[in-house]
Amino acid sequence: MGLWEVLRNIWKFVVPYKWLVLLTLTFTFIGSLTAQVNAVVLDRTVDAINSLIGVENFAWSKAARILTIITIVLLGKEVLSALISFGQKYFGERMRIMVSKDMSQAVIEKMLTFRMAFFTANGNEPGKLQTRINRGVDSLSMTVKNFFIDLLPMFTSAILALVLMFAANVYVGLTALCIVPLYFLITWLQAKKLSGWRRQMRSFHEQKSNGIMNIIESINVIKSFNRERIEGDKQLDLQNRLTDNQMQTRKTSFLFDGLKSFVEQIGTVLIIILTAYLVLSGYPGMSIGKIMYHVMLFSNVSAPIKQLQRIFDDMNEALVYAEGFFEILDSDEDKEPLGSYKPEKIEGKFEIRNVDFTYPNGNKALHDISMSISPGKITAFVGLSGAGKSTIVNLLDKFYEPDSGSITLDGVDLKDYDTQFLRENIGLVLQKNHIFEGSIEDNIKYGNPSATHAEVLLAAKKAYLYDQVMALPEKFQTKATLLSGGQQQRVAIARMFLKNPPIIFLDEPTASLDAVATEQIKNSIDAIKQNRTVIIISHNISQIIDSDVIYALKNGHVEQGGAPDDVYKQGGIYKEIFDASARSLNVEKIARTLSE
Ligand code: ADP
Repeated sequence: MGLWEVLRNIWKFVVPYKWLVLLTLTFTFIGSLTAQVNAVVLDRTVDAINSLIGVENFAWSKAARILTIITIVLLGKEVLSALISFGQKYFGERMRIMVSKDMSQAVIEKMLTFRMAFFTANGNEPGKLQTRINRGVDSLSMTVKNFFIDLLPMFTSAILALVLMFAANVYVGLTALCIVPLYFLITWLQAKKLSGWRRQMRSFHEQKSNGIMNIIESINVIKSFNRERIEGDKQLDLQNRLTDNQMQTRKTSFLFDGLKSFVEQIGTVLIIILTAYLVLSGYPGMSIGKIMYHVMLFSNVSAPIKQLQRIFDDMNEALVYAEGFFEILDSDEDKEPLGSYKPEKIEGKFEIRNVDFTYPNGNKALHDISMSISPGKITAFVGLSGAGKSTIVNLLDKFYEPDSGSITLDGVDLKDYDTQFLRENIGLVLQKNHIFEGSIEDNIKYGNPSATHAEVLLAAKKAYLYDQVMALPEKFQTKATLLSGGQQQRVAIARMFLKNPPIIFLDEPTASLDAVATEQIKNSIDAIKQNRTVIIISHNISQIIDSDVIYALKNGHVEQGGAPDDVYKQGGIYKEIFDASARSLNVEKIARTLSE
């Protein structure tokens, strides 16, 4: 992405604050004018004092007048400068912060519209995305300030100082003018040399923050296996590469900085020598005061140009991060397909016909799947782990779209359904459900934000959670993240009861529940299956045999389908799983124990 493209993209974020930009620019302009005052005052003072000393009728009154004027002018200028500097910094920073806020919000809102495939794609891991967004916002908002606020006044100040130098003497002006391009050239070479390393640095930063996130998320596994050293070493390799890169960047920067400093000093020396020569040779208009005057003006020319390096640096960083950032912000291909069909009522009959599906990473998970799922019945998906059961649910929830084939709900293609409306009518309970920061009540209310307290309590009762929560000191106001795995599972089930949708997908909903809770939840689910479509994925054989229809899956294929008893009689994968479950349950011994 080139600079102009970046600026064009940034522009829409700046427009709402154009008055703030204008105000800051005005302050900075006045600031760059007042910056020249010292040079002018010094020039006049030296000459005025020079003309006073060595004269026979030296008068203190004249000297006092000069000193008074200098004091008033310089003090007045400092007061003005302080006010201007405050205004410039305050309004400039305010604009940067506002733009930064708008950019962050825009990217968050955009990301929320993305389809699931975006989040599971390679390179979009949470830590990487976070770094890309944070660094993108920081560097782009800095560019806004650099470009729309700092750059223009800086050049004005430099040009003004240069014009004053030319006005004082053409040769002095020319000398300064020769140094400037040299300075630009070095700055440009420096930026060019650094840009490759910066790109690498971006990738290192993304990997680093993703690594830290992974460690925090899996800390209990790391500790239980004593793998602290290994995890530490994994990060060390990255840190070393990052450090190498940083050292290279710094070395290059310092070398170029030294070179620029040298060129600047050469410029100052040349100007001193030239002006001294002109004064000594009695060049018209040249006096001792001009030596200081020219040196100060030259520093006014070089100071802003020195700052240019910082702006170049920031801008190069922005160019590196802008790509990743605007890729997210401007991407429409990652947007979730919305659809517009909103029927009055959903019956809940799914027809899946010849569906193939491949995950974004190229993993083909489903092959030629066909099945019917009817309302008023419990349909169970059976199969070994990785068979594709959850993937089918993902497709039915419109998280992903099939590669080929069709999925219809009540005869209408799922693609045509208004996505939000569809999900409003689907309750999804997973094996591991996300519990948000906040109270148990808030977490249950996620199923229906407008539910009353009484409704929340009722849902908790249906999920067999109520008694346990009431035993806690803060009851429903307890932090939900403190609950045990099984209790969190019930929060998720309560959430679904509160949502009360006509379609329910349960992906191993009782996996982390004890036997008593499993039985209770099973009863609750049986009670709500009336007039609803319920799909259950379970390894729990008692749940499976109670379902009305089962589909047995193997390696992404539907192997068998029908009533559980009929399918069992056919043999095949279902019988294998069923028999293995019975053996692992030790059914014979259980039967013996029960009969004693
Ligand atoms: P099941 O629910 O039957 O255990 P899944 O539907 O979760 O199986 O997985 C089916 C296949 O798809 C597996 O090979 C799994 O590794 C793969 N898979 C699941 N989720 C993803 C994903 N987000 N990206 C890539 N592959 C995935």
